[in-house]
Amino acid sequence: RQQAAGLYAARETREWQTMDAAHHLHPFSDMGALNQAGSRVITRAQGVYLWDSDGNKIIDGMAGLWCVNVGYGRTDLAEIAYRQMLELPYYNTFFKTTHPPVIELSQLLSEVAPEGFEHFFYCNSGSEGNDTTLRIVHQYWRAKGQPDKKYVISRRNGYHGSTIAGATLGGMGYMHEQMPAQVPYIVHINQPYWYAEGGEQTLEEFGLARARELEAKILELGADKVAAFIGEPFQGAGGVIFPPANYWPEIERICRKYDILLCADEVIGGFGRTGEWFAHQHFGFTPDTMTLAKGLTSGYVPMGAVALKRHVADVLIAAGDFNHGLTYSGHPVAAAIAIANIKLLRDEGIIERVKTDTGPYFQQALREALADSPLVGGVDGAGLVAGIQLTSDKASRGRFENAWEIGTLCRDFCFKNNLIMRATADRMLLSPPLVINRSEIDELVEKAARCIGLTARELGKA
Ligand code: PMP
Repeated sequence: RQQAAGLYAARETREWQTMDAAHHLHPFSDMGALNQAGSRVITRAQGVYLWDSDGNKIIDGMAGLWCVNVGYGRTDLAEIAYRQMLELPYYNTFFKTTHPPVIELSQLLSEVAPEGFEHFFYCNSGSEGNDTTLRIVHQYWRAKGQPDKKYVISRRNGYHGSTIAGATLGGMGYMHEQMPAQVPYIVHINQPYWYAEGGEQTLEEFGLARARELEAKILELGADKVAAFIGEPFQGAGGVIFPPANYWPEIERICRKYDILLCADEVIGGFGRTGEWFAHQHFGFTPDTMTLAKGLTSGYVPMGAVALKRHVADVLIAAGDFNHGLTYSGHPVAAAIAIANIKLLRDEGIIERVKTDTGPYFQQALREALADSPLVGGVDGAGLVAGIQLTSDKASRGRFENAWEIGTLCRDFCFKNNLIMRATADRMLLSPPLVINRSEIDELVEKAARCIGLTARELGKA
């Protein structure tokens, strides 16, 4: 029998699974199928490793859901939470009140964020962050006397969360299908996914063409009707898709030309993932707003935020009442953990190490390990995030018709080999904790390559 975390009665895995199936509905899951198969029960974690209720030690190539940037088991974060809970577990920030943790966090964020980001609005998640962004964008244009600027343009196969607004902003058709209606004034353009959609174009031609779809959409709607463009610097859930290098500079040029706010969804990219503090710095553009979550607290407790450039904040501040907020906006315990987490990322040189050491090492090791695989068409990524493109034919950038089955097949091999690697269709995704060291990277890369090899063999390709 496995003792689960010490806090709960020891139970057999089968018993956990039966109880889970009886009462727990999982996100983004087919519960009928899952209840039949039984979930894997994760009981504890340390560093970059997880343990399940059968005692298996699993290397977490996804940092949870792209969030546990400082790794598992940081007792200093736990102690901060404990002390903050005793001192002030909760107070709201609605009615002319504030508190030290949220004040200190805002000050600290303004220090680590790029020049000009000096104001922060808090929420509990990335989805709420993007809902908040939408509200701010509308309030901004109303306050500027241009209330007709209402359209927000986003991308197909982008992911911005699962609230109604987040899901509408996202470009996942399978989510739209299950909603009663989409939020109005949100429209989508195509994604900059060259491998799948680039055809005969070069990367440069394609990057420019996909960015210019934004201009075409603005002209179609009328620039006086368009409020903002929102995008992930690299698409995360969509498959760790890195756009061609000329994509973001062109998007930025177009936003400036037509006076459109540029909103970066930094929920995955923020707090060091690419080796920069924020992913837009890696791609060389400057947004007007940033959505933050995940790495803000390294997932130890939920927290999201929206960061505003000075010119946006000034308008919002001068605009009178802003009718938006959440009970837990700026939650003291979440804020205390965010402060401690950001200080770890900064003062332990964690992000700096991703940029100068572990990031380049990981990227090179992964590319070398997969170079000869007949199943791998290419690797995208920077720092400690990567998307591995599986292909039916390397020479022609061939795609599998059953792409989702191929990705799931590979993911299941990973599961069996105690590696967490996620699949989005025929792309395999890696995004380990930022504290991963070189020998753990060796293990991660070796296991990933082995599981891709097993997949290739199963498909008769090796
Ligand atoms: N934006 C992006 C880019 C994300 O990756 C996610 C979550 N994966 C979200 C928003 C939504 O965040 P949450 O699940 O915390 O609501």
